[in-house]
Amino acid sequence: MKQFTPLQIVNARQRVTRDIINTLIDSNNDLINHPVLIPETGCATWNHYFFCPDHSVRLKWDRHSPHKHVCPVDGAVFSGEPYDGAWWRWLNGLNAKACYELGVLWLLTEDDRYLDKVREILLGYARYYPLYEEHGGIPYNGPGKANAQTLCEANCFVDFARGFDIVQAHLTTEEEHFITSRLLHTGAAFLMDHRCHQIHNHEVKISAAIGIIGAVLENETYLDFAVNSKYGLAYQLEHALMPDGLWFEGSLHYHYYALQGFFAFEKVAGGTKYSLLDKPFYRRMLSAPLNMLMPDMTLPKINDCVNGQERLTHTDLYEFAWWYYQDKSYGQLLNYIYQQHERDSIDALFYAKELPDHPLSPPCQNLHSPQSGLTIIRPKPGRAVCVKHTPYGGEHDHYNYLGLTVFDKNRAIFPDLGTTGYGAPLHYGYYKNSFAHNTLCINGKNQPPACPRVVSYISDNNKT
Ligand SMILES: [Zn+2]
Ligand SMILES: [Zn+2]
Repeated sequence: MKQFTPLQIVNARQRVTRDIINTLIDSNNDLINHPVLIPETGCATWNHYFFCPDHSVRLKWDRHSPHKHVCPVDGAVFSGEPYDGAWWRWLNGLNAKACYELGVLWLLTEDDRYLDKVREILLGYARYYPLYEEHGGIPYNGPGKANAQTLCEANCFVDFARGFDIVQAHLTTEEEHFITSRLLHTGAAFLMDHRCHQIHNHEVKISAAIGIIGAVLENETYLDFAVNSKYGLAYQLEHALMPDGLWFEGSLHYHYYALQGFFAFEKVAGGTKYSLLDKPFYRRMLSAPLNMLMPDMTLPKINDCVNGQERLTHTDLYEFAWWYYQDKSYGQLLNYIYQQHERDSIDALFYAKELPDHPLSPPCQNLHSPQSGLTIIRPKPGRAVCVKHTPYGGEHDHYNYLGLTVFDKNRAIFPDLGTTGYGAPLHYGYYKNSFAHNTLCINGKNQPPACPRVVSYISDNNKT
């Protein structure tokens, strides 16, 4: 197994509690309590289609109802496309998640029922995967086979490959060959064909999936493509970070989304010559947001940030980072997060390291980052003014240069509203526009995309 050492497994088995086991069982209930169901054709499309057109809320997903989908607001029933395809996409997501999490559950409990489920999922997809027809048509995205976009395909393959890594030694030679040839190699080849020539979080996720398959199969071609080719993981790190380590898309949510892709790869390939852990980039990415925290310990909601994404709850990243880098601020952040949540994630079990005594507190120095385009003035505890002047970041940008967020007494008195689901009319119709922000807006028109330049910034003991 590539992702965990025997010692990590022994330690995780000692640390695991009944609550953690029950949480893993509950979140995979559907798979545990039903026969494994795999789509026989490439019929799955996109989760964002699974919304009520009248109420912009997610429809109820019911395993026993692939053709009738109910709105939770008024009980209206929707059928046919695009809802049915989205229903199958949801199922693929549940299957992929279970492939990994039931593998972990088996490691922790040694209960072979979970091993059998993982085997069934992998054999099921191996049976059909080569036959799925390529399909797509999702905005800003390449096509998929099991799903309709390359990004979704990559996300599923991260879990297929990690699940396979856990159970590989317990498969027969025939099973192993069937899964590697029909699922993992076919998937890697498809992802390599469809990774695009751009600096973007999607390309990080796609490269990470190819790299994880490469690490698990010890395939240097995949690893080299994933890490060292143009637009691969190393290239993204070298070109997509601003000087202080912020991801160029200008949204803290996508900053962490990209970092999740990088770290998914590192959790499997760390320790090999393909790992990028000892380069300076990840530490910059991990540390930069900690200087941007607002008085209530949330991240600035600049650009695309759906409600809730401003909360710094990324234990999957900081458990691994604290374990590997031993940077005290990462441990202190975890200490802060665990004042509100149990320390019960999979990463907390396998990368556990004792936390520092004190939690992280909000920064009190001013932050002025002219190239990354963020200034946060912090005159006294509980008060802060955040000024957005980030360079144009592409599809996730909002038209609000010099947008202000003002906090007093630890609360946002002039908030940045972030946005809502991207499929909802208010996303483009309201939240992204200049008039929805605390900024200059002329005749209700949007500011054009730009790369702002700081003309002057003066700060001394009395004023900023
Ligand atoms: Zn509805
Ligand atoms: Zn905004």
